[in-house]
Amino acid sequence: MCYPQNNCIYGGEVYKHKEVVQFDVAENSVSAVKMNDGSTVSGTTFISNLDPKTTLKMVGVDKFRKSYFNRIDSLEGVISAFSLYIVFKPETFKYRNHNYYHFTSSDHIWTSQEYDEASWPKAFMASMSTTKKTDVWADGMTFITYIKFDDLMLWEQTFNTTSEKEDRGESYETFKERKAEKFLQTIELKFPGFRNCIKSVHASTPLSYRDYIGGYKGNMYGYEKDSNNPMKSFIASKTKLNNLYLTGQSINMHGVLGVTIGAVVTCSEILGKEYLVNKINSSLE
Ligand SMILES: Cc1cc2nc3c(=O)[nH]c(=O)nc-3n(C[C@H](O)[C@H](O)[C@H](O)COP(=O)(O)OP(=O)(O)OC[C@H]3O[C@@H](n4cnc5c(N)ncnc54)[C@H](O)[C@@H]3O)c2cc1C
Repeated sequence: MCYPQNNCIYGGEVYKHKEVVQFDVAENSVSAVKMNDGSTVSGTTFISNLDPKTTLKMVGVDKFRKSYFNRIDSLEGVISAFSLYIVFKPETFKYRNHNYYHFTSSDHIWTSQEYDEASWPKAFMASMSTTKKTDVWADGMTFITYIKFDDLMLWEQTFNTTSEKEDRGESYETFKERKAEKFLQTIELKFPGFRNCIKSVHASTPLSYRDYIGGYKGNMYGYEKDSNNPMKSFIASKTKLNNLYLTGQSINMHGVLGVTIGAVVTCSEILGKEYLVNKINSSLE
């Protein structure tokens, strides 16, 4: 049944602020998922978009072959990100309708993930936004650079989101301020005069990405892949359980486009590839 209060789309229901905490399994099939508020959703087919390590733990280690569980559990996440969100003073910073991929030196194109305190950040991506009223002035700008989860190990045990607040402590705030200042200095070299345009600065770390998105160690693109051993990180969308399927950035391909293609692959497992591809093609005619 589709209730309007649950953002009903194409006969489906979307729930907000509902965290899945457990999969109920009987006779090699998932019967329901439990939320952290105690509610339950039952169904006949389940597709999990969570980080696969988390899905397997929520289903139960004993429900999978030990070698399969251990292989996935041993995979390392790719690097995470430190981001700055800048709000500009009105009409101070010119809007450019494109992104920037900036490296502080041409040597850093292949090595921006390897840094120390002095050389960080070696690269960043920048994108800006404007208001509907103008395309001359930017109202905000986002900067993203690589950072290792290990740099945040001191606060690994904390969890903080807007719906589940926890103070990570003064040392965390000091760390963020130090990193933000270093990042701003690097940005200023690319955009001279940039700092005079700033109204406010907000920052997020791998802990923010981990706590909001649920990815292992706040990774940006799923698990590390090895071109010499592609099967090591290969995770099929169909699981050993009769009605449990996986999708998302650690299955098939990562990135915004990658997960869309991955979703088609997962749905093909359920509906049949020919049927689904024909249906997509006919909707484009
Ligand atoms: C900082 C950053 C920058 C990026 N930049 C780019 C880019 O420029 N281009 C690009 O192609 N890709 C980029 N990516 C990667 C891209 O965002 C991901 O590959 C892609 O969004 C992953 O899609 P997904 O469907 O696997 O998961 P997500 O889009 O991450 O969705 C997972 C969802 O599951 C929810 N969730 C997690 N746990 C639970 C739970 N227990 N119960 C209920 N819900 C839960 C999360 O809240 C989230 O909404 C970036 C990633 C990051 C972190």
